[in-house]
Amino acid sequence: MSPIPNGVNGVSVSEPQAHGPKSQKKHSQVVIIGSGPAGHTAAIYLARANLQPVLYEGMLANGFAPGGQLTTTTDVENFPGFPDGVRGPEMMDKFRAQSERFGTEIITETIARVDFSQRPFKYWTEGEEEDADFMTADTIIIATGASAKRLFLPGEETYWQSGISACAVCDGAVPIFRNKPLAVIGGGDSAAEEATYLTKYASHVYVLVRRDELRASKIMAKRLVAHPKVTVLWNTVATECKGDGELLTGLTLQDTKTKETRDLQVNGLFYAIGHEPATSLVKGQLDLDEDGYIRTVPGTAQTSIKGVFAAGDVQDKKYRQAITSAGSGCMAALEAERLISEEEAEDESIPAEKVHVPAEGYLGTDKE
Ligand code: FAD
Ligand code: NDP
Repeated sequence: MSPIPNGVNGVSVSEPQAHGPKSQKKHSQVVIIGSGPAGHTAAIYLARANLQPVLYEGMLANGFAPGGQLTTTTDVENFPGFPDGVRGPEMMDKFRAQSERFGTEIITETIARVDFSQRPFKYWTEGEEEDADFMTADTIIIATGASAKRLFLPGEETYWQSGISACAVCDGAVPIFRNKPLAVIGGGDSAAEEATYLTKYASHVYVLVRRDELRASKIMAKRLVAHPKVTVLWNTVATECKGDGELLTGLTLQDTKTKETRDLQVNGLFYAIGHEPATSLVKGQLDLDEDGYIRTVPGTAQTSIKGVFAAGDVQDKKYRQAITSAGSGCMAALEAERLISEEEAEDESIPAEKVHVPAEGYLGTDKE
């Protein structure tokens, strides 16, 4: 592969030199892997652009049903367009229906293997992983998402989403947390940000830090520790979640140094111990950051391989919201569309009248 230097934030984009065969089984101009807000938004744009996208929604891939993380939640209240909120699974059904309405081919299978060393790119579905079983795509959008890390403490399964959450911005405002004591587990930037956010609703926020220092950046750590509604409990871990059978009412804590245990009365527990991006599929082929997220050229969805784009939580460790995922899915689609039309225009075997012309006026405005 020859690197195309762009020097932006260390993401160096390579173009596969080798040209491989198109699959006899299935070849597509654009394949989307993943079915959360990012994948479906990309599909809606590409289908409306008549590029007949193929979207693999997964068979419980990465532990999520088709539709992604929002299929595991109740009300989504911060997605624009739903003034009364919407159930997560219902919202994802609507995303799917909109993708299908414009002609996206949705396949309920998990992609098990990809090969980005030549174009068209090769990929294989789970159970069909022999070399000869490959299918091909001119461009691929990776939208496989991420999952919040959890501790799976005793009692956690009972009170998950009934007092326990992994997203303060998503769930912090719900009535069960209002004016109640809450706990956050973690000592990084997410914990600092989420705990500070929760002070708007909580009577008090306890931050459980397993060591005697925070990992969070200095400025965020300083803001957290100084907040009058926050108490940081150093060298502290939770060992059990307790409740009344319906809602969480408290935690058992342990001092990591003295091993002493005690109870803390809280009505909410928020995990902020990091996320796991679903990048095992592309590890070793795409440039990933130190936490395993796909690196993209800033301000774009372009990964380190020309023709492979990434959208949603799999490339975003900062915002991790449905709306930002959808936004980056739109970017990936428009960039894939632009690449396809540029490459068709350069291909002398394609008659000019057959070259794909992007419908949207955005193309050409930011060409280097
Ligand atoms: P995901 O939603 O993670 O979906 C990725 C999909 O791709 C999954 O279905 C997965 O099975 C599939 N997949 C993975 N690998 C493969 C593969 N190899 N082949 C095929 N398919 C594959 N955000 C908000 O904005 N508001 C909220 O209220 C809110 N509430 C939340 C509540 C909970 C409990 C959780 C966990 C998250 C919440 N979020 C919320 C965050 C939001 O869900 C995510 O930011 C968003 O879903 C990310 O979208 P995504 O498209 O990147 O991927
Ligand atoms: P981090 O990995 O940075 O921090 C995770 C925290 O959880 C650490 O304090 C860690 O403790 C603690 N932890 C991990 N496992 C356990 C466990 N089993 N029990 C108790 N505590 C545990 O994750 P973040 O999500 O905070 O941040 C990820 C990245 O995203 C970082 O690069 C961060 O800077 C960035 N980010 C930036 C934001 C911003 O700029 N606004 C906002 C949010 C994130 P320990 O320190 O002991 O390992």
